[in-house]
Amino acid sequence: MKIKDILAQKDVTLSFEVFPPKTSDKFDGVIKAAEEIAGLKPDFMSVTYGAGGGTSEYTADIARRIESDMGVTMLPHLTCVSSTREHVKKMIGIYKENGMENIMALRGDIPKDGTPAHDYHYATDLIADIKEGGDFCIGGACYPEGHPEAASRTEDMKNLKRKVDAGVDFLTTQMFFDNEEFFDFMYRVREADINVPVLAGIMPITNAKQMKRSIEMSGTKTPRRFLQIIDYFEDRPDALRDAGIIYATEQIIDLIAHGVKNIHVYSMNKPDVARDIQKNLTNII
Ligand code: FAD
Repeated sequence: MKIKDILAQKDVTLSFEVFPPKTSDKFDGVIKAAEEIAGLKPDFMSVTYGAGGGTSEYTADIARRIESDMGVTMLPHLTCVSSTREHVKKMIGIYKENGMENIMALRGDIPKDGTPAHDYHYATDLIADIKEGGDFCIGGACYPEGHPEAASRTEDMKNLKRKVDAGVDFLTTQMFFDNEEFFDFMYRVREADINVPVLAGIMPITNAKQMKRSIEMSGTKTPRRFLQIIDYFEDRPDALRDAGIIYATEQIIDLIAHGVKNIHVYSMNKPDVARDIQKNLTNII
C-alpha cells in the first residue's frame, strides 16, 4: 500500500525503522528483530540504506521479507550521492520487482574518504529517476534545525520546497529532542507553502554511546533536561534505557496533543524499545 494513502486514511500513525547489518552473519539477527517489530503491526516500517553502520546491499531483501512475509507496508530507503545513475536505476528496478510501492529518496552523506560519483548532487535529482522507474509513493528527509550543510535555515527551506515540488509525497524529519524545534519548523514549512504530511522522527535514546554517535552525526541540539538524564544515568544501562523510552514517549504525547498526526520512531533494530513505546501509547493513539 502507498504510505500517502495510509497517512490520508488514519487519524494518527506510528511507524518504526530498522537498519541493515554490516556483515552477513548479522543478517538473521536483523530479520528476527524486524519480525518482532513487524509483529507489533505498525502502520509501516522503513529500512535504511547504508546508514547507522549497516550496509546498503541488504536493504532490498529486508524490505521484501518484511512486506511479503510479515505483511507490513515497507519504505526502503535509497541514497544517490555515492552511486552511479546505473546503480540507482538497478536498485529502483529491484524495489519494483519486489513489489515495493514506496521509496525514501535521499542524497546520503558525502563520503569523508572519497569523492561522490557525480551523477547526483541532491535528493531532488533522484526523484525524476524514481518516477521514471515506476508508480512509487516518494518520501523525503527534512531537518527541523536545518541541514548541517545548509548556509541558512531559509536556504534549506527553499531547497526543501524544490524537493517537494519535484514530487515528494511526504517528509520525515531528522530526530529532534526539543518539540519546540519541530513546532517552529512546521510553522516555517507551511509558510513556505509545503503542504505534504510531515512525519515527526523520534529517536528513543537507550544508551549513552548511541546518543553521542547519533548527535555527532546529525548535529541535533540536546536540551538541558535531556542531557541531564544522559549524564546522570550514563553508568546505569537499565535506568538509561527506561528514561530514554519515557523521554521519547513524553515527546510523542506532546506532539499528538499539539495535533501532530504521524510519528516515525527510529527503533534501531530494538523490538523491546518499539514494543514499550507502543504500549505506552495504547490509549493515546
Ligand atoms: P538533500 O535534500 O539533497 O539536501 C542536502 C543539502 O543540500 C541540504 O543542505 C540542502 O539544503 C541542500 N540542497 C538541496 N537541494 C539543493 C539545491 N538544489 N541547490 C543547493 N543546495 C541544495 N542516510 C543514508 O545514508 N541512508 C539512509 O537510509 C538515510 N535515511 C535518512 C532518513 C531520514 C528521515 C533523514 C532525516 C536522514 C537520513 N539519512 C540517511 C541521512 C541523509 O542522507 C543525510 O542527512 C544527507 O546529508 C542529506 O540527505 P537529504 O536527502 O536530506 O539531502
